[in-house]
Amino acid sequence: MRLLLILLAAVFFVLAVRALLTKPAEKRTPKKVKGEAVVPCSLCKLHIPKSEAFYSDNHFFCSANHQRQWLETRKHKQ
Ligand SMILES: [Zn+2]
Repeated sequence: MRLLLILLAAVFFVLAVRALLTKPAEKRTPKKVKGEAVVPCSLCKLHIPKSEAFYSDNHFFCSANHQRQWLETRKHKQ
């Protein structure tokens, strides 16, 4: 009978330790960093990842072509 109690205590102890060890893993909230910032092209409003965008004067562009076009139209306005 005493052996059974010791066995039960041992099992309980193992389960308790296991629960304590697995708890932090469950607590971990998998924060998925969703890609990167997306910016709209100032000319055609197409959204592109910031790292791929062409940048000038606080404006983003989908291509060097649109960047040039936008800068040219701005020059004419001034
Ligand atoms: Zn564009």
